[in-house]
Amino acid sequence: MADKCFFCKGKVAQEKVNVDFRWGKDLIVIEGVPAMVCRQCGEKYFDAEVYKEMEKLAKGRIKPSKRLTIDVIKFEHPVPA
Ligand SMILES: [Zn+2]
Repeated sequence: MADKCFFCKGKVAQEKVNVDFRWGKDLIVIEGVPAMVCRQCGEKYFDAEVYKEMEKLAKGRIKPSKRLTIDVIKFEHPVPA
């Protein structure tokens, strides 16, 4: 994984972040997702495996017929070393 930001060439560092994840029409929030975050512009970079796992979490949840609040899901997948 790159250690420089693609956009501003700033330094990126590994962090756990909350992600607003869009799945179709739905917006869900996944907490504690490991990402590389740019110190300068805040751009987040995700591992392909991490991204796949987020999709799985988004797809796997039971769909409520009506919802007033945003769902928050905890990211529990271990980070690849
Ligand atoms: Zn940047």
